Amino acid sequence: MSERIVILGSGESGTGAAILAKAKGFDVFVSDMGTIKEQYKKELVENAIAFEEGQHSEDKIVNATLIIKSPGIPDKAEIIKKVKAYHIEIIDEIEFAFRYIKGKVIAITGTNGKTTTTLLTYHLLKSAGVNVALAGNVGESLARKVATENHDWYVVEISSFQLDGTKTFRPSIAILLNITPDHLDRYEYQMQNYINSKFRLVQSMQSTDHFIYYNDGNVISKQIIERKISAKLHPINIDKNSDDEVMNFESVGDSFRLYQTKTTLRGIHNKINIMAAVGAARLAGVGINSIELALKDFKNAPHRLESVAIIEGVEFVNDSKATNVDSVVYGLGSYKGPLVWIAGGIDKGNNYKLIEDQVKEKVRVLICLGKENEKLKKAFGGIVKELYETQNVKELVEIALKVSKAGDVVLLSPACASFDLFKNYEDRGNQFREAVLQTKALVETDL
Ligand code: ADP
Repeated sequence: MSERIVILGSGESGTGAAILAKAKGFDVFVSDMGTIKEQYKKELVENAIAFEEGQHSEDKIVNATLIIKSPGIPDKAEIIKKVKAYHIEIIDEIEFAFRYIKGKVIAITGTNGKTTTTLLTYHLLKSAGVNVALAGNVGESLARKVATENHDWYVVEISSFQLDGTKTFRPSIAILLNITPDHLDRYEYQMQNYINSKFRLVQSMQSTDHFIYYNDGNVISKQIIERKISAKLHPINIDKNSDDEVMNFESVGDSFRLYQTKTTLRGIHNKINIMAAVGAARLAGVGINSIELALKDFKNAPHRLESVAIIEGVEFVNDSKATNVDSVVYGLGSYKGPLVWIAGGIDKGNNYKLIEDQVKEKVRVLICLGKENEKLKKAFGGIVKELYETQNVKELVEIALKVSKAGDVVLLSPACASFDLFKNYEDRGNQFREAVLQTKALVETDL
């Protein structure tokens, strides 16, 4: 009988892992405590893969020789405790996929900026004609890609939860963007556990591999000194106090400079992301001319400082992904002002002191978009010249247009979760974009 692989959780990564395991001839069983999405169920059926949903049947799970666990399932889940008692190997889908991969991997992690940097790295390689795949948290799972296609390079976005289930995973090029407190509930509220998880990225790397990291003068810099890392080190150094547009590359084999003004990404945070992606592309052999061209037409994922439209000289920007104050620091930091700032929603314990100076300097009008705005009003009511409140997106855009002047930027960068008024941050951003575009159409037909 062939070896039995049980996959816990059947989202994109679980289904991808199941397809790969089946293709490799294993006896595969998928178990999901929740309901499995129709599209994935269909694929499991088509591939003749046995599955269950709404439960974890212990007798069908503990007879596995290998368990592939969805990154969403924490170690403290009952089923994981049981599996551990049987000493069955538990790995992540990324680790499983890596065991069968033929090409090379560029892996990207960090608390923030993963998606932007992953998409940009992929774009730089793709534009240069490299046979490259995009996988991981963004787009399709790595296992699915490995099962169905052959590529020379795989650009993979990887979270700390996924890293927790890696053992032999060895990227040829790894990028670590930053480490700031997040998801600490999964790490026994110990920052060091979260840091250790991020550094699993480099654990199997060798001296011929490359590690690009942001030299933050803080958490990462300290770890670099304390740890023994075999990969070749490529620090990204940035003067945070300078809004200098020059990006100097010295440690990726050759030295060259690029200008952020000639890219589609703004803000100092994106300077770090660009430098990381360009460094990786260079190390993968992409020429500088090709990189320069590709930087000019890169389109980031939506809801991240997404420029939606300009109406009567006022630019409307959707940064709905900014659900905490840290992100808003970068959002506000990307503009010189004057700003009409839209914030509000469900506050996750925000410390607004972090942005007080920037708000004083740049924000003329604050529009609160939330059910409960007392904390925002208290923090900024005495600072901004005008303050409005609304719970309706159409009205929000009307107010924003009315109070702004040509040259202003209207920035939706909420610092809060969206669940009071929206399904999620995407829904909030989509509704905002739609209302802005409708308003633009109305204004233009009136002219
Ligand atoms: P992730 O995939 O890690 O969530 P994204 O690329 O989607 O990252 O960016 C999410 C938000 O994180 C952005 O809207 C921005 O506010 C912030 N951000 C992006 N890059 C960085 C960075 N290098 N450092 C700090 N914050 C960043």
